[in-house]
Amino acid sequence: MNTKVLDANAPEAIDLAARLLAEGELVGFPTETVYGLGANALDPKAVLSIFAAKGRPADNPLIVHIWHQRQLEGLCEIPEGAEKLMRAFWPGPLTMLFSRTARIPNEVTAGLPTVAIRMPSMPCTQRLLRACGLPIAAPSANRSGRPSPTLASHVLEDMDGRVPLILDGGPCQVGLESTVLDLTHGQPTILRPGGITREMLERVTGTEVLLAGSILRPLQPNEQALSPGMRYRHYAPKGNVTLVEGPETAVLEALRNRCLEDRQAGRRSCVLCFTEHMDVLADCDPHDIGSRKDEAQVAHRLFDILRRLDQEGMETIYSEVVPPEGVGLAVMNRLGRAAAFRTLQVGNKEA
Ligand code: AMP
Ligand code: MG
Repeated sequence: MNTKVLDANAPEAIDLAARLLAEGELVGFPTETVYGLGANALDPKAVLSIFAAKGRPADNPLIVHIWHQRQLEGLCEIPEGAEKLMRAFWPGPLTMLFSRTARIPNEVTAGLPTVAIRMPSMPCTQRLLRACGLPIAAPSANRSGRPSPTLASHVLEDMDGRVPLILDGGPCQVGLESTVLDLTHGQPTILRPGGITREMLERVTGTEVLLAGSILRPLQPNEQALSPGMRYRHYAPKGNVTLVEGPETAVLEALRNRCLEDRQAGRRSCVLCFTEHMDVLADCDPHDIGSRKDEAQVAHRLFDILRRLDQEGMETIYSEVVPPEGVGLAVMNRLGRAAAFRTLQVGNKEA
């Protein structure tokens, strides 16, 4: 199959994408979070082809994308409290789980009684969803196990020859996948942190928002994953990533020593560091993850950097960390998984 890449802001491209989706084909498209790989959510065959193109395990459910709340009629039950969250955060990077009706095929939800729904905010995404008029099931447009795509070129890297069309809308504004919030089990619980933070949600709900246990640690052998996606190895570059945590001077020293020791042992090694530390780590092939004062910038850059590490053939990678608060929680969830939660604690915490 020949894969076309067209400008997401060209009306002809939106028309073509909408037609392909209505015909049961797959389309790669931008959103404010990451690029998605979309199919008609009401067409089981089209949905199955998403799993085939991604190499995604069949028991990992998909998020359904809508542009208007009225599309939810007959698809799911809206629990108390959800309306307030929709008003505050839709359109935007918040996915909510609702009890579903039989109109949503099992293929979308991996047989679960709930469906994950989101209303994206990027104008070209909204135009596409509006033009096709269908709820669109779309996971991230990467091959399973690769970092999510934040540029059309990332989608092409993973999906060339597997989909007829990719819409190019430039770099994704947030750069990390949406926050997934479960509203079907009593107290609202974040299953996956994202651009809408726990603090932002709590301000609207007026109640405590819980965090799924495995956000900042690996799933235990007998632990049930509330969100099936958490079971899988994710966001992992081919090289070994180690997170380095502690007081700043000790972290910088450890990053440098580890990287240079590995080089002496003949391994390709680099560091991921804040913009402010690029100079002091200049001899360690530093990759700039963004300013330490700006977690949103780190979120925006992270997946592109993880992809580049593979292209550069890095074997060991040592990274600084951000505090796990606000958007930093989502950054540390993805970075932690990229590192298989391998963390080097250096220096004296009290220092
Ligand atoms: P992605 O499409 O790559 O952004 O992944 C979607 C995420 O949402 C995965 O982690 C899924 O496991 C999660 N998800 C989708 N639907 C459900 C659901 N019904 N229940 C729990 N998690 C879900
Ligand atoms: Mg994904």
